[in-house]
Amino acid sequence: MDTNPENGELGLLRSIRHRANQFQGRGGVRLGIGDDCALLRPRPGEELAVTTDLSLAGRHFRLDWHPAEAVGHRTLARGLSDLAAMGARPVAAFLSLGVPRDLTLAGAGSPSWVDRFLNGFFDLANACKTPLAGGDLAESPLALADIVLVGAVPRGRALLRSRARPGDLLYVTGSLGGAAAGLALLAQNGEKPGRAAPPMNARNEFPELLRPHFYPQPRIAQGEWLRRRRLATAALDVSDGLSTDLAHLCQESGVTAVVEADWLPRAEAASLAQALHGGEDYEILFTARPNARIPGLISGVAVTRIGRIEDHAPGKPLVSLATGCTIEPLPAQGWEHFSHEG
Ligand SMILES: [Mg+2]
Repeated sequence: MDTNPENGELGLLRSIRHRANQFQGRGGVRLGIGDDCALLRPRPGEELAVTTDLSLAGRHFRLDWHPAEAVGHRTLARGLSDLAAMGARPVAAFLSLGVPRDLTLAGAGSPSWVDRFLNGFFDLANACKTPLAGGDLAESPLALADIVLVGAVPRGRALLRSRARPGDLLYVTGSLGGAAAGLALLAQNGEKPGRAAPPMNARNEFPELLRPHFYPQPRIAQGEWLRRRRLATAALDVSDGLSTDLAHLCQESGVTAVVEADWLPRAEAASLAQALHGGEDYEILFTARPNARIPGLISGVAVTRIGRIEDHAPGKPLVSLATGCTIEPLPAQGWEHFSHEG
């Protein structure tokens, strides 16, 4: 243990508890950090949605590429996006952190990596009204963050990926490929010898192009809106890339899909391949009956029709891509970044 208690595990736990308990009584947490368990109290008639997600240094983020704040934000965003895809309201988050000791140490006048991680984490938690109700902290040779998210949804009303029907139209929120375009920029810059990654400007800011990758916005409000209005027949979040996630939706629903290449809302600087296969955009992909009135904007985020759902037939590809009058199979080639690296 460090001689300065504020630098050690105890000090860190105290600071996390202080920041977390500012939320107590909100979001469905009756008792937060401090006892053996948290007590959660969903509203009458609700059921709970639970998701878990593991982020590993070297696999999901790199200490030399990603600002600590962005790692904290992304850890929570990944879990919140799963709740959004089910139309669930966030109730509570549980965070387990494993970090090498040097990442817990503050420098002269500069916060530790863990403090900066928590800044990013709590900024998003506040914005999405998600209380941190528990977790764990341990020294580890590798930095890792494990997040559990609990959400609530009226009984029997969660948006499922298994309910798409032939004739449905296919929609996506926001834009696609932005995270992949940012990651490509990071990788490009990281390969140049002697160059720091991420690339910073003179004011020590990262380029705006990296924002979708560093700070993806979970579509909580949009998911809840779709669930309340009963407009979506099926939904899931685009975490692994459109081609991969749409194949999941088709598989679970027993249908096929056709995507119109020209209709895709491509993020700035994103190529067609990045929009089709790039992961970590955390947009909601959903289907709706052809007569459903889907607005062009939900809670300030654009919604774009990108294709249609068709029936399943022997030999028919799960997902096809239409470009002008040509149509060809679209294999699932979701982004598996860092999988080839240490
Ligand atoms: Mg998901």
